[in-house]
Amino acid sequence: MPEQTILIVEDEPHIVEVVRDYLKQAGYRVLVAGDGPAALGLVRRERPDLVVLDLMLPGGMDGLEICRRLRQDPALADTPILMLTARTEETDRIVGLELGADDYVTKPFSPREVVARVRAVLRRARGTGTQAGLLCVGGIVIDAAGHSVTAGGQPVALTPTEFDLLVVLARNTGRTLSRNQLLELVYDVAYEGYDRAIDSHVRNLRRKIEPDPGRPRYIHTVYGVGYKLTGAEDEPQEPSD
Ligand code: CA
Repeated sequence: MPEQTILIVEDEPHIVEVVRDYLKQAGYRVLVAGDGPAALGLVRRERPDLVVLDLMLPGGMDGLEICRRLRQDPALADTPILMLTARTEETDRIVGLELGADDYVTKPFSPREVVARVRAVLRRARGTGTQAGLLCVGGIVIDAAGHSVTAGGQPVALTPTEFDLLVVLARNTGRTLSRNQLLELVYDVAYEGYDRAIDSHVRNLRRKIEPDPGRPRYIHTVYGVGYKLTGAEDEPQEPSD
């Protein structure tokens, strides 16, 4: 496997130093940006395999804004993001996951934990390579091993979390899964209180794969329970949420 590049976006030198050392030791190429504009410039130029993104940054652009901008840029929208947050930034953490971050680590953290999370997110981004075969639901074709998706014949760029969510739904086509079940299946752990983050990922997924996201044909909301994926022969769901 070619060397993978990780971009650390953080302004506190001692955190940058320790995370950089551990990632380098784990075999990654490491880039560092100390603020938002530098981070966005490096992502565009270097296309890192993953961004370790601190939320508290100097200047006018915080980590949430960087996350938002990456997810809104079609060329960069599938860049995996691992957030660094302080224990007190619970709301920011939820917003970050809702904006499409793939995982988070809470400060103070052990650098080993950061490396483990980086590995886990990258593994999800690559796919495991063991689950060969295509999953087809209506006009959506998912190549789980190749980690690619087409909708109506067009390639769709998904974040690792969106991809895993779609695969989980597709493997359970026609079955309703609760938000908690989806959280557990998509992330390695169930984040208590974060089940609404699933709603944001579903909303982003719909925007990318549904012919008309306002009247979903594939991903249906099951009120009071969760979501299910159905084939295209079903009637589109009436606009609701
Ligand atoms: Ca910081």
